[in-house]
This record gives sequence, structure tokens and C-alpha cells, in this order.
Amino acid sequence: MLPGYLVDLAYLVAALLFILGLKALTHPRRAVRGNLFGALGMLIAVVVTLLDRQVVSYGTVFAGAVLGAAVGVLLALRTPMTGMPQLVALFNGFGGVASLLVSGAAFLSAARLGQAVDAQFTIAAAASGLIGAVTFWGSLLAFGKLQGLLTEKPVSFPGHQILNALLFLSALAAAVWVTQQPGVPQTYWILAAIASLLGIFLVLPIGGADMPVVIALLNSYSGIAASATGFVLSNNVLIISGALVGASGLILTNIMCKAMNRSLTNVLFGRLAPSEVGADADDVYAGRITSTSADELALLLDGARRVVFVPGYGMAVAQAQHAVRDLANALESRGVKVEYAIHPVAGRMPGHMNVLLAEAGIPYEKLVEMAEINPTLEQVDVAIVIGANDVVNPVAQTDPQSPIAGMPIIEIAKARTVVVIKRSLSPGFAGIPNPLFAAENTLMYFADGKQAVLEILTEVKEL
Ligand code: NDP
Repeated sequence: MLPGYLVDLAYLVAALLFILGLKALTHPRRAVRGNLFGALGMLIAVVVTLLDRQVVSYGTVFAGAVLGAAVGVLLALRTPMTGMPQLVALFNGFGGVASLLVSGAAFLSAARLGQAVDAQFTIAAAASGLIGAVTFWGSLLAFGKLQGLLTEKPVSFPGHQILNALLFLSALAAAVWVTQQPGVPQTYWILAAIASLLGIFLVLPIGGADMPVVIALLNSYSGIAASATGFVLSNNVLIISGALVGASGLILTNIMCKAMNRSLTNVLFGRLAPSEVGADADDVYAGRITSTSADELALLLDGARRVVFVPGYGMAVAQAQHAVRDLANALESRGVKVEYAIHPVAGRMPGHMNVLLAEAGIPYEKLVEMAEINPTLEQVDVAIVIGANDVVNPVAQTDPQSPIAGMPIIEIAKARTVVVIKRSLSPGFAGIPNPLFAAENTLMYFADGKQAVLEILTEVKEL
């Protein structure tokens, strides 16, 4: 055992490092430092806890750490950037189940030993069990949907929401029961079973494409469950770190909902479906599409002074970010000003495009947020939309019935010439046609994103 004041001091330092880490993570330039601060805080918290509470042998702790680290390293190395949302879902789920099991172990051991427990202990254990189980099963389902193991489509049946309401009320009743019967271990597992069903049925009716928002929410739940576990164990650093995760997850959920112009209730209980009154693809595109080729585009770029790339989900699929960087470098060496217009929900997770472009070594100053670049787009000679669709769809501003109505978009049609690189006229995530592709100043380059950019680069170099 360490002296209490020393433990509290170390936990305070760890908590400060977590907060400094989060602050640093708000800017890409400081993000790596932020990660290090967070990791250092966690190292201090873990070492001090191990020195302070020797409830299990160091051998067991070491074995667990080695096993966990091996799985973590393997997952991190093998998961492609496009698979990041489901990896985060799994991590959230593991966080939730860890809280469920740790609180459960404390609850069962108190019951077995007949220890007197106070209200803080029982209420926190009930909260941890309930939220931990919802998080675990909800996250597993989210993982399954995004990984393609389960159907991505929303699955629901008549009376689904009523069943969810009943499960929620039953889980609350079971939680109250846990607090009233701390000596009866079964109460905890009954609560966990009901909450598990709730987690499954809550996520089942949500479509795979809405999953990133749900994952941000489940991330917040995993933090709240950890914080509750901190109260069970009377461990201050767990309370603080859990609360930080809970709060940041909620803030992220809110940011994502705002960027998609949807309420959280709409994501959780509504469905994103193609507009029934919206235009048919044939009506939008027939006879109005102008295709282009790499040599034609090279000539166009030769006369350009300002070029803006608009990356979207397709750039991630094609892994075209390095090719885009090379093309941008080639253009810059010819005196062209190149920027990147970043939509907050381009891709399939927050910051998706920022991460991909940073991975290719593109300087952060060249990434311009939507609100900042929109008023300047009229001065853009050539805009190259690569694998983006919904985030540049003008229907968001013109059709109030559209599933993306009201979503802020990058108003790329204002540019003098718009080049759209994608493989076909297939819709994006929202499943609706995009009149931008049929606009007079738009040229379509139908190809895989990476292939197309490499071909344009070859032509540009030959100029
Ligand atoms: P979209 O999903 O609207 O469109 C992506 C386009 O990429 C498709 O039309 C597809 O067309 C094209 N594409 C796919 N593969 C390739 C390839 N290999 N090469 C070239 N193009 C390719 O993406 P956006 O980024 O524009 O929009 C994101 C959408 O996701 C928004 O609706 C947003 O609300 C939603 N969303 C985003 C979240 C986030 O956090 N970022 C979270 C949840 C939802 P084709 O098949 O013809 O090639």
C-alpha cells in the first residue's frame, strides 16, 4: 500500500495529463504530443494503482497486459484506415464489458463476504452493469454491421420501439433491485442480461451508415460506465478519466449530428432513406453528363491558377491520398495554388479526410474547413472532387424532402470548372442522385480514384 496522499497526488498528475492531452488533440500539429500526454497519464495511473492495491498477483496482471498488448498491436497493424470505425466500436465494447465485469466482481465479492456496502457502491455498480452491458452488445452489433458480418440495413419489426421502451423500463427496475438487494448476486446478472438485450435491440434498427454517430455515442457510454466503476472501486482517476471520455464522446456525437443536420433522436429512431418524392437518377442525368479524360484534364490544369481538391469517402476506398499529394506537388511546382476543402462528415468517421491527408504528408495549412472555403470558391479555376458525393450535393439546399436536406455542403458548383472523379453514377451514402454531376461546368472522370489521379499526373508531367 502507498500513502493515500501520494496516490491522490499521482492521480491528480494523471488527470492533468489527460486534460492537457485532450487540449493538445484539438489541433493536428499538437495531436501526437496530446496522445503522448494521455499515454503518460495512463502509465502513471496504472503503475500507482498496481503499487497501491495488490489484489491480484503481478504475474496475472503481467499476463493480461502482454495478451492485451499483443491483440492491440495486431489489430492496429492489420486494420486499414477504412476499417477504423469498427475498430473503435470494438474498443468501446471492450471498455463497456470491462466496467460490467469489474463492477460485477466487486458486487459479487461484497455479497459473498457479506460486507456492508453503502448507496454509492450499489448505485454505481447498478449504473456500471446497465451501461456497460448496453455498450458491449451495442458496440458488437455496430462492429458486425460495419464489418459486413451482419446486414448493414436497419432491422426492425412492428412494436420494436415499444419493446425497447419495455426493456429500458425493465433495466431501470432491475437496477433499482440491485441497489435494494446488495447481498443477492443474481440481481446483478439479471440486470446485465436485460441491459444486453436493450443494447442489441437499440442498435439493430440503425443502418450501417449511421453507425459512426452511434459509435461516438457508445464511446461516451463506455466512459460513463468506467466512471461509475470508479465510484464502485472508490478510484478517483477512473472517475475522472471515465467522465472525460463520457463528455468528449457526447460532444463528438453532437458535432457529427450538427454536420449532418440531423438530431440524435433522428439518428437513433429515424431512418435515412432515399427521398420518395426526390428525383429519379435518369431524370437528373440523362443526356446531361460530360465525360472527360486524363489528357483533357491535364490541359485544363495547365491553365489553372487555383485548384481545390474535395476529398470524400471514395478517396479513402481508393487509397488515393498519396497520388493526390503527388499531383498537388506537380501542380504547385508549376505555380498553381492548391488547397483541400474539408467537409466535417466527408468519409465515414469524423476527421477521416484530415487523417488520410496527414498520412500522405500534406501540410495541415492547406486543409480549409467548409465554412471558410465556401465564400472563396468562385475564384477557383478547377475543383477536383475525388470520391465525394453527398457532401457536394446541391440537393441539400434545394430539396426540403431530401434525406440530406439542410446539411451544409461544400458549394463546389461555384468553381469555374468542376471535375468529379468516381467510378460510376452510383449514389453516395444517402442513396440519392447528385445534380452536380449534370451541371454545365462539371466534367465526369469515371475511374477508380487512385488510378484516375495517377493518369492525370502522368499527363501533367508530360506537358
Ligand atoms: P459518399 O458516401 O456520399 O460518396 C462516396 C462516393 O465515392 C460514392 O458515390 C462512390 O461512387 C465513390 N467511390 C467509392 N469508391 C471509389 C473509388 N475506389 N474511387 C473513386 N470513387 C469511389 O461520400 P462523402 O464523403 O461525400 O459523404 C459522406 C457521407 O457519409 C455523408 O452522407 C455523411 O453524412 C455520411 N456519414 C459520415 C460520417 C462521418 O463521420 N464522416 C458518419 C456517418 C455518416 P462510385 O461507386 O460511383 O465510385
